[in-house]
Amino acid sequence: MQDKSALDDLAVFGGTPASEEVLHVGRPNIGDRERLLERINDILERKWLTNDGPYVQEFERRVAAFVGVKHCIAMCNATVALEIAIRALEMKGEVIIPSFTFIATAHALQWQEITPVFCDIDPHIHNLDPIKVEEMITPRTTGIIGVHLWGRACDVDSLSDIAARRGLKLLLDSAHAFGCSHKGRMIGGFGHAEVFSFHATKFLNSLEGGAVVTNDDQVARKMRLMKNFGFTYYDRSDYIGTNGKMNEISAAMGVTNLEAMDEFIAVNYRNYQKYGQELAGLEGIDLIAYDEKEKCNYQYVVIEIDESKIGITRDQLMEVLQAENVLVRRYFYPGCHRMEPYRSSFPHAGLMLPETEKLTTRVLCLPTGTSVSEDQISDICQIIRFAVEHEVEITRRLNEGRVPTNPPTSISARQRD
Ligand SMILES: *Cc1c(COP(=O)(O)O)cnc(C)c1O
Repeated sequence: MQDKSALDDLAVFGGTPASEEVLHVGRPNIGDRERLLERINDILERKWLTNDGPYVQEFERRVAAFVGVKHCIAMCNATVALEIAIRALEMKGEVIIPSFTFIATAHALQWQEITPVFCDIDPHIHNLDPIKVEEMITPRTTGIIGVHLWGRACDVDSLSDIAARRGLKLLLDSAHAFGCSHKGRMIGGFGHAEVFSFHATKFLNSLEGGAVVTNDDQVARKMRLMKNFGFTYYDRSDYIGTNGKMNEISAAMGVTNLEAMDEFIAVNYRNYQKYGQELAGLEGIDLIAYDEKEKCNYQYVVIEIDESKIGITRDQLMEVLQAENVLVRRYFYPGCHRMEPYRSSFPHAGLMLPETEKLTTRVLCLPTGTSVSEDQISDICQIIRFAVEHEVEITRRLNEGRVPTNPPTSISARQRD
């Protein structure tokens, strides 16, 4: 790691990048390689590659037991799992969701011509604000999809209460929350169903993969048919279905990673603590908190940047860090409502989303996971401190480079303006 003592040492101004290795957010966590290869060999020997094979069945059993639900239906990814759960729960018309989420939450609805209605969030927890959810209900509303962003539970108690009172379905996008709990109960058992993602970047991966978990026998049966073309038997389809099946190698990866989960959490927690120590006392940079009483996967290290306190914008800090090969990410900028097709269909959605609009300019996700060391975290934090200490010169030089011939560099910067 190169120490930064002068402005010209910053890679953004021509210095050598601090890290030779490119540091990512969401580098995959990989369990015991030997066990994985044994299992893959086993699959190849058996020549049962997909269609509800033994590893898929084992993965489903283990996930259901771990989460404490009756049914787990493994699928090819969480987006298809969301689409299938939405259809199985018979959502239609309008469904209320946060805009501050990954775009798949919205697309899974729009894909089947259901209108996602974007609702604002509670800025403290970054999840749906139940009071605002209730205000967004219309006669066309059939459901709510809550998201447990960063693995912190959304207010499932209030959302369940609203859903029950207003006759709505409650689905939870739990893509971030495998291994997390709410009031001591594992996430996965709330609402009518919950959806996990096992994508490579998520806490627990099956290469690509997802699952719906539920305690509802009927919905579970329906989803099992739907993910397999609606087949109830050879040559017999009883239902409109699609192909949402998980394959055996994915399931083998999932099972292998389930066995390594405690190690992943230990490393993530160590990294999170390290960031906390290194950034302590830096005013204007707040590391989001996790409730120590709950189980958590600590997969996301998220800082909130208060530009008015540190004098440098989130985007400028991102530019500085990315030049150093620290590929921080601004999840979930600019908010679903500012992306197509929603941006065109609801050009004024932002008026109802003041907290979302603020938060999308403040949040930055930092590299963590099993491939990031404590020393690298110290280095990253040193760059952040240096940038904050030299904010006046840095912002001046970054802005100088822009006037007036240089257009904004990124597409998203343009969209924002
Ligand atoms: C990753 C993610 C998804 C989509 O998961 P895939 O398995 O990649 O399809 C959905 N919702 C949220 C909140 C996510 O972060």
